[in-house]
Amino acid sequence: MAEKNFIHGRWADPRSERYLERENPATGETITRFPDSGPQDVADAVHAAAAAFEAWRFTPAPRRAEILFRAAELMQARKEKLARDVTLEMGKVLPEARGDVQEAIDMTYFLAGEGRRQAGQAIPSELPDKICFSVRQPHGVVAAVTPWNFPMAIPCWKLMPALVLGNTVVFKPSPYSPLSAANLVGILEEAGLPAGVVNLVFGGDQTGAALVEERRVAMVSFTGSLEVGREIAAYCARYSKRVHLELGGKNAIIVLDDADMDLALDAAVWSAFGTSGQRCTAASRMILEERIAPAFTDQLITRARALRLGNGMDADAEVGPLVSQAQLDKVERYMEIARDEGATIACGGARAAGDGLDGGYFFQPTVLADVEPGMRVAQEEIFGPVTSVITCSGVERALEINNGVQFGLVSAIFTRDMSKALRAIERLDTGIVYLNAGTIGAEVQLPFGGTRATGNGHREAGQAALDSYSEWKSVYIDYSGRLQKAQIDRSGGAN
Ligand code: NAD
Repeated sequence: MAEKNFIHGRWADPRSERYLERENPATGETITRFPDSGPQDVADAVHAAAAAFEAWRFTPAPRRAEILFRAAELMQARKEKLARDVTLEMGKVLPEARGDVQEAIDMTYFLAGEGRRQAGQAIPSELPDKICFSVRQPHGVVAAVTPWNFPMAIPCWKLMPALVLGNTVVFKPSPYSPLSAANLVGILEEAGLPAGVVNLVFGGDQTGAALVEERRVAMVSFTGSLEVGREIAAYCARYSKRVHLELGGKNAIIVLDDADMDLALDAAVWSAFGTSGQRCTAASRMILEERIAPAFTDQLITRARALRLGNGMDADAEVGPLVSQAQLDKVERYMEIARDEGATIACGGARAAGDGLDGGYFFQPTVLADVEPGMRVAQEEIFGPVTSVITCSGVERALEINNGVQFGLVSAIFTRDMSKALRAIERLDTGIVYLNAGTIGAEVQLPFGGTRATGNGHREAGQAALDSYSEWKSVYIDYSGRLQKAQIDRSGGAN
């Protein structure tokens, strides 16, 4: 079986005539082949998107939204099959894969609702007989370049706001998640999207780079690693392309002495080891107040050891594999770094084998103790089932440690003390803050994104997403019949 690109409403083999393969990360078995698209394929896709733009941007927004609504209905009807493909290609356990698809559905319904909103402002003029208002307008061709860890949700975060606002799209998914990309684009086609409005080009990093560099791409929306995000931002700055970045995280859960310990533990286990730690929102640091740190760490270790690793399709699996051999090697390298820096591997710390795990990329849930805030394992994104325990003397120090990393995506704090909680909410320098909940659990109707190196100031989701995929046009209508000069004509005023 081989996937095809989708260009100008047709499923097509790549002109490059090259293909890549994807394996099931739980077993190593090949599940599909997909195009390794070259510059010519990318150019064709961008050409199709550019050609479709005029008609799509002038299709009334509520009509555009109806197509999105139908796509959400189709996703809902096929949720189980879509979720199984997510598990098959990137490994997360099936209940989490269903959550991924549900988030895609929620986002699509939410943005379909925006077809009848997208409100601008009507504002009084400083001059008589003059009306002022603002309207949103689309950018043009949007390049959506996505990672594999939410292969349904993240593409919908990008495609749906772009489309409802009248942009056309070229979508370059991760080479680790081709099935979900084909499923999503197939659903958009079936929902009635006109030819060329969404185009899909499969491929690896070079295909992504070729897409970003295509002259007719007006905006790049990228979710992925910090290194690639910075390269893309630098390129886009040079050519005045709009760019939206969602990059890494180094998120922490702070647990103060007075917290509900059982609740904090449940949240810690879920946030650190859910999706095998391969979430941008994963809790890879536990910042614990000194008095509760030893008991909390002991229980965290016990709970981590008890997690059942397995193929995400198995009903009793709690933690699936990592996505690839490269990711497994990377996590393993961080174990050496941890040891060299003087941290203690309190549990886990190695690949998992036996019990049917041998063919997959499994890594044991790992807790690192004796970690200092400045160590690399406490500063860099590992993207695996690894969390570092850091102790602190009180809330002020906890906030300082939390904010002392380059990333600013999510923070969570557990306390029953409202003064400390409110103080923390104000001071935690992240785009998302949770009180008495883990670092995972964003909902589609709120802005999603991070401060500092996590992004470039834009947000996905919520109505904030509309700002990324459109620009404001300010309109002045003068019906006075004479030349009026703003800032200069002051008739009718105090002077
Ligand atoms: P990645 O940066 O390796 O790849 C992301 C996408 O970019 C892929 O489609 C890839 O093929 C493409 N790409 C790679 N090099 C490119 C280049 N030079 N030009 C254009 N495209 C290029 O990231 P990944 O391993 O797929 O995903 C994991 C990363 O994503 C983690 O750092 C994680 O934190 C981040 N992430 C962030 C969020 C968020 O919302 N902040 C959400 C999910 C994942």
